[in-house]
Amino acid sequence: MLNRLLRLFESSPSSDNGPTTYTQQMHGIAKSDISHSAIKVIAQLQEKGYSAYLVGGGVRDLLLDTSPKDFDVATDATPEEIRSVFRNSRIIGKRFRIVHVRFGREIIEVTTFRGSHTNAQEKGEAAQSEKGILLRDNVYGDIKSDALRRDFTINALYYNPQNGEILDFTGGMEDLQDRRIKIIGDATKRYKEDPVRMLRAVRFSAKLIFTLDSDTEAPIHEHADYLAEIPSARLFEEVLKLFLSGYATSTLHKLRDFGLLAYLFPGTDALIANDDDLNSKLVFNAAKNTDKRLRRGKRVTPAFVYAAMLWPQLRQQMKYLQEEQKLPLYDSLQQAAQGVITQQLSYTSIPKRFLLPMRDIWNLQWRLNRREGRRAQALMEHQRFRAAYDFLLLREESGEDLDGLGTWWTSFQNADEEQKEALIKAVIPKGQRNPRKRRRSPKKKTELNNEQQPKPCE
Ligand code: ATP
Ligand code: MG
Repeated sequence: MLNRLLRLFESSPSSDNGPTTYTQQMHGIAKSDISHSAIKVIAQLQEKGYSAYLVGGGVRDLLLDTSPKDFDVATDATPEEIRSVFRNSRIIGKRFRIVHVRFGREIIEVTTFRGSHTNAQEKGEAAQSEKGILLRDNVYGDIKSDALRRDFTINALYYNPQNGEILDFTGGMEDLQDRRIKIIGDATKRYKEDPVRMLRAVRFSAKLIFTLDSDTEAPIHEHADYLAEIPSARLFEEVLKLFLSGYATSTLHKLRDFGLLAYLFPGTDALIANDDDLNSKLVFNAAKNTDKRLRRGKRVTPAFVYAAMLWPQLRQQMKYLQEEQKLPLYDSLQQAAQGVITQQLSYTSIPKRFLLPMRDIWNLQWRLNRREGRRAQALMEHQRFRAAYDFLLLREESGEDLDGLGTWWTSFQNADEEQKEALIKAVIPKGQRNPRKRRRSPKKKTELNNEQQPKPCE
């Protein structure tokens, strides 16, 4: 990257009051690093007489020598026109209409240049809520207006594979060189239009290790509450990007420090203010493990992320239900889970396909303690055993006292038949080892760790 950008500033780009143009020689992006499908889409649009560019994260990441997650194309063709060029395409989105062009498993997102909103609201192509949030943005315009409606300068660079030029309308190349995230236009206004941009600012600064420009950063602290206006389904999608892009740990720190976490996971935010306590350790260890797994090419299910993010609250509520309402452990777990989920759903949605596995992970924390007879073997065959076991280790690693349960399960999984039998034999419910003692001190048992003696969570 460095060489590439140095080359960029050795020669001077051309401007003439229009965009600054950087030639292929100056930026050095190799066409071979770009998805063939994206190149094909651009070429076909250009053949039909439209202008078309690679834009967004694709260009940004290529300039930084990292592999882009996806390739987005911007064009002056309308969605219907794009649709008629590609048989393998469909128009999606209402709030923001775009076209997906499909090549096997790869999808190229093609967006029509957006324009300014003057008069557009009357025609219904654009709409804003009372609070100024953009509800719809389907006003088309030219490439310059398109650049100005994008979020950050580093995301508004237009690469034309045909002549190799990059067009820069907002100073994005310099910001890329200086490793700076800078919003385009007035920050407060842009965050008001779309508060998700605050989450994106934090995500990119964590992922790219870029600093936030001071004018871009300052209003975030002040206007985090704008996020309350965003539909829970969209926030769920953003949570996945924040936590499953490989930079969850630094992202989580930033979300907390900027006061944004309170609008994604309010219960968790309130319980992880202090880095040293059990809750913070669990949540940050979960983020660290997630990053590690992704780096090794392993899968991470959102169900696991949510199970961890909501665990501090679950524990707190269970503690209350057990101590104050005298509910048995299993009932308190079910009731607390219901309460935590209901509260969370008013912030971020959680699709059923993740909600059920998340509850399984929680329920299994209780069941993992029941190992007598054939139970342990049967549990290992449970669909969610692996995730539940990982979660158990996470709890242990974060300082919960589980009486060696995680270690026991690690040994059990690695044991032969004989060793397994011995391990099971050794699991005599603690209460039965010394009934007298148990009667005298029934409160000495650990949370979620002894079925016979449910005890408040902390
Ligand atoms: P990545 O795909 O690596 O997460 P990206 O920058 O490509 O990063 P996308 O969500 O794919 O992000 O969006 C593509 C481009 O669309 C962005 O680079 C930006 O130019 C524009 N964009 C996306 N979301 C917004 C938004 N909320 N406001 C303004 N522009 C946006
Ligand atoms: Mg992208």
